[in-house]
Amino acid sequence: MKQKLFDKFAELFGTPDGAHFYFSPGRVNLIGEHTDYNGGHVFPCALTMGTYGAARKRDDRMIHFYSMNLDRFGVVEASLDDLTNKNEYNWANYPLGVVWAFAEKGYNLDTGFDMVIWGNIPNGSGLSSSASLEVLTGVILTDLYGITDLSMTDLALIGQYSENNFNGCNCGIMDQFAVAMGKKDNAIFLDTNTMKYEYAPIHLEDAKIVITNSKVKHSLVDSAYNDRRQECTDALAALKTKLDINALGDLTPDEFEANKDLITDPVQLKRAKHAVYENQRTIDAVAALRDGDINKFGQLMNQSHISLRDDYEVSCEEIDILVDLAWKIPGVIGSRITGGGFGGCTVSIVKNDAVDTFINDIGKTYKEKVGHEAEFYTVDIGDGASRID
Ligand code: ADP
Ligand code: MG
Repeated sequence: MKQKLFDKFAELFGTPDGAHFYFSPGRVNLIGEHTDYNGGHVFPCALTMGTYGAARKRDDRMIHFYSMNLDRFGVVEASLDDLTNKNEYNWANYPLGVVWAFAEKGYNLDTGFDMVIWGNIPNGSGLSSSASLEVLTGVILTDLYGITDLSMTDLALIGQYSENNFNGCNCGIMDQFAVAMGKKDNAIFLDTNTMKYEYAPIHLEDAKIVITNSKVKHSLVDSAYNDRRQECTDALAALKTKLDINALGDLTPDEFEANKDLITDPVQLKRAKHAVYENQRTIDAVAALRDGDINKFGQLMNQSHISLRDDYEVSCEEIDILVDLAWKIPGVIGSRITGGGFGGCTVSIVKNDAVDTFINDIGKTYKEKVGHEAEFYTVDIGDGASRID
């Protein structure tokens, strides 16, 4: 990969001399969905799929971005003297947003840079190619400009800040955190209320993590995401009239049941129920994993899907087809929607000897029912973003 990127870099910017090589992963969330902006727990892991970058400082104030995935945009040119989101920058608004966020936090770059990227995360499928690109940019900036007082957690927060405020997507912290802090063969148990986290080794000796891409993305995804956030905020406000809590993630299911009548709106009630129970499921799932009880982990994944489908209402027909088919296959330990919803991917834990059947049977039936192919990735858990060379 490095050679391919450096060849392109040389073609565009003269020589690759002095450029460095970086990698930033995508992520999949195993359980704990739509809890990260509710002060709950999440349990994502970084993937070995990700975004690669080559970058080098320039002598002037220009910034040049090029994506080998999106050649049609050519070299996108921006200036340090005009850090604003522009439609014509298209995808480059993600890395430019990180430059802007650095400046907002007091890290003003003196000169610009050239950056070429290529990634193998399917875009817009819930595997966080945007967070991957943001954290990649953060790592590049700290490395090129010798910024030593920003931790990887800071880079995650800066990535989220830029996605929220430069690119208008109100995402929680999970994606950037997983991408920045990922560790090979481990998932990250993160409490988004306190930002405390622990690594949990994933030793699936006789099973694999299989991601299934529905290859659909329904257009309501962004607006529905913001609606869900608002519904949870309103439910929390109703609970706060009596309870001293900061977030839905502060409540156990029992506490929620004892106080849920404070929420009079039935839709808000369902959303809050999901947030509270999903948080508990995530805590229970990590405990099950530590006990070596992978079957319980799988059952909690399945319950997570049902809650996201019925109470949080972020699934869709295509995803439900994939999950229903998965649940019927012997050797499937658990299967659920992953990511924001309304399309994208499912994540399943599948016994090694059932993986071929999983891919063949689901692939065939999905095509018959939906009319196009699903894509399957048998994934490995990799490290977080870093400079490689
Ligand atoms: P997700 O994060 O789930 O993959 P998003 O819609 O949040 O989906 O982010 C996808 C967007 O991120 C793409 O449309 C593109 O603008 C940008 N992006 C991600 N990876 C790349 C890449 N390799 N090259 C160019 N743009 C990319
Ligand atoms: Mg994204």
